[in-house]
Amino acid sequence: MKHCSRCKTFKPPTSEFFARTKKNKDGLDFWCLACKRSWRKENETVWRKSYREAGARYRAKLRSLMIEAYGSKCVCCGETELDFLTLEHIGGGGNKHRKECNNQILVDLNKRGWPKEGFTLLCYNCNLSTRFGRICPHKRQIMIQVA
Ligand SMILES: [Zn+2]
Ligand SMILES: [Zn+2]
Ligand SMILES: [Zn+2]
Repeated sequence: MKHCSRCKTFKPPTSEFFARTKKNKDGLDFWCLACKRSWRKENETVWRKSYREAGARYRAKLRSLMIEAYGSKCVCCGETELDFLTLEHIGGGGNKHRKECNNQILVDLNKRGWPKEGFTLLCYNCNLSTRFGRICPHKRQIMIQVA
């Protein structure tokens, strides 16, 4: 009989009761299958949470890489508050791009070494005000001043 080091009971040393593993001399796991199963269940929630957190950290990292790659400020008004900055597809095409790379724009751009052509940084204000081909109030002011 084989002793399970978790539940401390003896069970037949077969693959019916212990998972096979090359790590151990007898070719069977230290824990019995029942223990493995309950351990996996207990850890699933913990694991899922840490997986989510790792994902969020990765996205935050990508975002800060993106902002640095594109100059760390709004090209229109010079806003440098990171939370306000967004990636702008020059001349549109954002939705098409999003579809092409499965909504993983930053992952895609990171892979391509942050191509400068066609992309720039805008803050939310400027981004919204330039939607649909409008001119941002910042630029309008300048034009008025020049005129
Ligand atoms: Zn066990
Ligand atoms: Zn701006
Ligand atoms: Zn602006």
